[in-house]
Amino acid sequence: MQEPWLPQQWHKEADVVIVGFGGAGAAAAITAQGLGAKVLMLEKAPEGEAGGNTRIAGQGYLQVYDVDKAVTYLNALCGPFQVPQPMARAWAEEIAKNNEWALSIGGDPQEHQHQPEGIEFPELPGADCAHKFHDGDILGYSNTWKFYEAAVKKRPIEILYQTPGRELIQNGITRDILGVRAEHNGQALYVKARKAVILTCGGFEYNQEMIRNYLPGLPYCHGTGSPYNEGDGITMALAVGADLWHMNNYAGPSMALKVPEYKAPFSMQALHYSHVQNGGMIVVGPDGRRFTDEKYHTRHGKIPRNGVWGPMPTPCPMHMVFDHALFGVGPLYDKKPVSGWGRIIERYDWSADNSAELSRGWIKCADTLAGLAGLIGVDAQALQDSVKRWNHNCEAGNDPDFGRNKMLIPITQGPYYAVPLSPAMLNTLGGPRRNERGQIVRPDGLPIPRLYSAGELGSIYAYLYQGTGNIGEAFAFGRICARHAVAQTPWA
Ligand SMILES: Cc1cc2nc3c(=O)[nH]c(=O)nc-3n(C[C@H](O)[C@H](O)[C@H](O)COP(=O)(O)OP(=O)(O)OC[C@H]3O[C@@H](n4cnc5c(N)ncnc54)[C@H](O)[C@@H]3O)c2cc1C
Repeated sequence: MQEPWLPQQWHKEADVVIVGFGGAGAAAAITAQGLGAKVLMLEKAPEGEAGGNTRIAGQGYLQVYDVDKAVTYLNALCGPFQVPQPMARAWAEEIAKNNEWALSIGGDPQEHQHQPEGIEFPELPGADCAHKFHDGDILGYSNTWKFYEAAVKKRPIEILYQTPGRELIQNGITRDILGVRAEHNGQALYVKARKAVILTCGGFEYNQEMIRNYLPGLPYCHGTGSPYNEGDGITMALAVGADLWHMNNYAGPSMALKVPEYKAPFSMQALHYSHVQNGGMIVVGPDGRRFTDEKYHTRHGKIPRNGVWGPMPTPCPMHMVFDHALFGVGPLYDKKPVSGWGRIIERYDWSADNSAELSRGWIKCADTLAGLAGLIGVDAQALQDSVKRWNHNCEAGNDPDFGRNKMLIPITQGPYYAVPLSPAMLNTLGGPRRNERGQIVRPDGLPIPRLYSAGELGSIYAYLYQGTGNIGEAFAFGRICARHAVAQTPWA
């Protein structure tokens, strides 16, 4: 009689099955195939939309030059949320090899030329170990991703697009992971993994229930990356007994305009770019009052408070309130396809004079501040007081309320406008807990046999985040877990 956990039929089989074709999946696939394994990749998105957050990212990846300093820096970034030291060392040793690996497969590692945000926490010990690289001449525009995607595609690696992994097949006695139940065109597709399954299917940026459950204080939040990242890896790993870690950490928040017609939110130039100098702008919460330095250059969403870093406050719903001078200066949104799902994939053609978005109702407008307050549902007196106070601060050249020192321009010229803002993020960092070999572990610390993960699904970053650390880690742990997975003895 057949064991009850086995499917009637395996439709496909490979030595190593990789779930998710982003940066971590690419690194794992290239490494495992290079070691002689037969590799099969399952990808939820159709071919034109695969690549996950890696594809639409800024394209930087971390390279460290000094392993000991890197361990020190990672420990400092983790602060009170320490990770096991073998894990920190494995991270540092492997990230130190990112460029060497890129060169070994024909890549063209280039250090970022302009690093205004280069070292994210330069004040922390070991920070000078960190270097940001990308592939090819130009930073952004999916260029690093294009190289790794092509490197996978030119190898004999089968990729099944529009085939999400849904469930891990687990031996009910030994707990070994034997394969994956995927789905293609609504039909179950059972894929046998003779050696191991590697989960590289990203975070939960597009799963509002997980966001409410796991991210601190957020009733909702919108990812600027791939909408296919819905936390499937977390669901699959939990069902086979995995522990979780870092579920409350994420690269955010920022504030952006989210409209139902598009999946990714629109970032507002006046909030994010220092070159925007015309017109007055503040952001208010549901009480009609300011709550932050709107122009503060957060460190991936974190701001200092009482001597520690924490997420920027985002009292929802929030509104960016501004005057006609800012409305008239040009598009509120910068659509250059450098990074982000909206800019690279959805490509909404924002009008040069903001008129189309006004007609669509994305931007609210009223002749008076009281009228605008009515449109956005805040107390009229509170909004008028907030603008009056802001204008007074601008005249004095000083914002004693929140210390803003950029774009100290009064809101004077009507009509007045508002754009609703939601909390937004780059990516989540939590997921199944893994060890220094990339094995997913149970709450008691024991590995779940033949199950691995890499990338932002259960990332190492527990507290603070160094920019480019995600793709750097995705490459590093993709290679680590592929090496270990390939060394397994096949179960069948
Ligand atoms: C706008 C933006 C800019 C960023 N810039 C940078 C940067 O410059 N440097 C940096 O280091 N980090 C950056 N990040 C973060 C970084 O992009 C990600 O953390 C990293 O790319 C994650 O890689 P990954 O391989 O783990 O996941 P992803 O690249 O997200 O890949 C996951 C893949 O899994 C697929 N998938 C999901 N569910 C399933 C399923 N059930 N079955 C099969 N497939 C599935 C998805 O479709 C996707 O293709 C940025 C993020 C964003 C949003």
